[in-house]
Amino acid sequence: MQLDILTLLVMTAVNLLMVSAALPVIMGPRISVAARCAQLSLLAQSIAWWAVIAAGHGYELVMMTLAVGFTCISQWLMLRALGGWLGHRPGERWLRALVVLAPLGYLIGGSFNGVFRSGWGNACVALAMLIVARGTLMPLRQSTRPWRWLLFGCMLVMAGLVVARGVMGTFFSESYLSFQTPQAVNLAMAAGANLSLVLVTVAILVAWREEAEGKLRTMAMTDGLTGLFNRRGWTDRAEAMFANAQRYQQPLTMIMLDLDHFKRINDTHGHEVGDQALKLFARLLRETRRTGDLVGRLGGEEFCIVLSNTHKSASTGFDQRLRGRLREVAHKELGFTMDFSAGVAVLKDGDATLAGLLARADLALYQAKNSGRGRMVMSEGGLGATVI
Ligand code: GH3
Ligand code: MG
Ligand code: MG
Repeated sequence: MQLDILTLLVMTAVNLLMVSAALPVIMGPRISVAARCAQLSLLAQSIAWWAVIAAGHGYELVMMTLAVGFTCISQWLMLRALGGWLGHRPGERWLRALVVLAPLGYLIGGSFNGVFRSGWGNACVALAMLIVARGTLMPLRQSTRPWRWLLFGCMLVMAGLVVARGVMGTFFSESYLSFQTPQAVNLAMAAGANLSLVLVTVAILVAWREEAEGKLRTMAMTDGLTGLFNRRGWTDRAEAMFANAQRYQQPLTMIMLDLDHFKRINDTHGHEVGDQALKLFARLLRETRRTGDLVGRLGGEEFCIVLSNTHKSASTGFDQRLRGRLREVAHKELGFTMDFSAGVAVLKDGDATLAGLLARADLALYQAKNSGRGRMVMSEGGLGATVI
């Protein structure tokens, strides 16, 4: 089989162009910055290969400078994509510097010395690829391994081929300087670029799908109005806290809260103001809780908070802080005051399920409503209760 270097290069550039045009169509217009960066990274790489091809037809140094520059831009965009998906982009400062210094050094140094040009250009490109490869390791966000390893492998192989080209061009023969001489290392690199394009595209599509799945999972667990956990999200986490407290014999306190006469707020001020009031209450709940406490909107104007590793007495302090803040802030921001009733239940030795604890808190809340609202009632474990 005869491999023609120019055909390989054109195929790689055309394929990259096709993929970077197809991905936006497949992914649609509403995608994350990370997915957009991955698309643009392929486009930048395509431009780089077109510049390599054009270099064979004149303005060689300028075209190859463009190729080096766009390859570094492509790697930088890929690192940004990884940053969005994995939570950090180690080495980004280096990559940003390479985007400027690699083509600049190539153009200036290259006009005087071909050997420097080969060494500098290939070293910069290989370094950029290695930074991207490193970016796939040790993610800060939950992420599956296969697509990261695929990307890591592609980057490593390509960086290896670039280093090989650089070594040949710098130490052996200047005929390696041009990409279009049919040296084995040039052929391997053009073929490798084509193959890695396919694998990198697969990795991008898997990462994008994983991101979409994560968003759906979060949406299914989150209340759209307040941003708090909804009943499902809250229950999932509360079950885990309940099991943990039982296993390690730690105290756990649950407070059910319900806004008083909320229907009147809707009737008097309108549903939109009612929504604002719910958002404000959710914000104050968030601000009043401590790290590790779990807040959720269980439905309508009913909220629940689990105070981790906390005895019954701490719930009084929480209630007073929240009540005080609510009076003050609601008056300031909404123009009227609001109040709530609360029911408290603490984990006891005999508690077998979270639902049992929740039912006790709910009963105490019911008693708070019946005894005049605007107060907190502590469940005594059975049907008894203490009004605060
Ligand atoms: P109580 O003191 O006994 O709790 O009286 P209440 O009026 O707060 O309770 P009720 O259960 O009668 O009414 C709750 C109201 O909350 C009725 C419903 O329209 C309103 N509500 C539920 N969800 C939302 C929402 O998302 N936005 C708005 N604006 N109102 C909501
Ligand atoms: Mg209510
Ligand atoms: Mg209610």
